[in-house]
Amino acid sequence: ATPTAIMVGTGKGAEQGILIKGGESLERIQAVRAVLFDKTGTITKGKPELTDVLTVPNMASSEALRLIASAEQGSEHPLAAAIVEGAKVQNIELAAAPEHFTALVGKGVEAHVDGKTILVGTRALLSERGISFAQFNEQMEALEAQGKTAMLAATADSVIGLVAVADTVKPESATAIKQLHEQGLDVWMITGDNRRTAEAIAAQVAIPADHVLAEVLPEDKANQVKRLQEQGYVVAFAGDGINDAPALVQADAGIAMGTGTDIAMEASDITLVKGNLTSVPVALALSRATMRTIK
Ligand code: ADP
Ligand code: MG
Repeated sequence: ATPTAIMVGTGKGAEQGILIKGGESLERIQAVRAVLFDKTGTITKGKPELTDVLTVPNMASSEALRLIASAEQGSEHPLAAAIVEGAKVQNIELAAAPEHFTALVGKGVEAHVDGKTILVGTRALLSERGISFAQFNEQMEALEAQGKTAMLAATADSVIGLVAVADTVKPESATAIKQLHEQGLDVWMITGDNRRTAEAIAAQVAIPADHVLAEVLPEDKANQVKRLQEQGYVVAFAGDGINDAPALVQADAGIAMGTGTDIAMEASDITLVKGNLTSVPVALALSRATMRTIK
């Protein structure tokens, strides 16, 4: 690899908002045969909005939303921001900053609101606390089939309702993935979200259901990259979050969204300044062209 060719290649990238760390990164990228995209914040905008609030018969939906949003005030998750914002829009006054707040990574939150425990999160979270939510099963599945993320809410011993948020796909995601398919690459999606929601989002960008890795806990994302590598793929991972850093490092090439966290960018070979996914096929083509010049 001549230093001049690499300078030209990285220079061309930079002009298009594709920051490549150096010659080694450029070389790793050109060998990529599969791209694994994180869902939230990478394929989708990562700015979900509150769409639905359902409650048990003896509770007003405004009261359920007040309890849920109050509990979520302590969370930095984009889902939490959507819920808090949704309550604000409805002029619901939240309780003071929640006491005993705990973020349960990949599952939800637990906090004390008005002195009592409120849980918000996944089926797994309620199940592990022995809380039944059978009365919400059907509605939850229907919301997920629409690509929404539905979260259950409960007190320490019983379910109180369900909130759903919708995160829309970025306008260029489908085009970017189509171009990668045309380049002969295999495209996968990974998420901590449930399988039904994940498949509904994947379908919008033409990622087949058998290329969707759903319900993956944050600490397991790097392992999923490893599994693809063990199947013989040279893997690029594209993500934006703090939780994505180990997967970005494990991948043969790490691609960070410049709109995401610094930690993700530090762990990556490439940063897409504007978080524009069509830069992924451009970067791959650029790296191949640069390496060809060298040979
Ligand atoms: P992703 O991989 O899509 O970024 P996460 O791993 O962060 O998703 O979260 C996985 C799931 O855990 C979410 O889909 C949601 O159901 C639940 N969850 C995570 N954080 C929260 C929160 N603050 N409030 C409620 N539910 C949450
Ligand atoms: Mg994410």
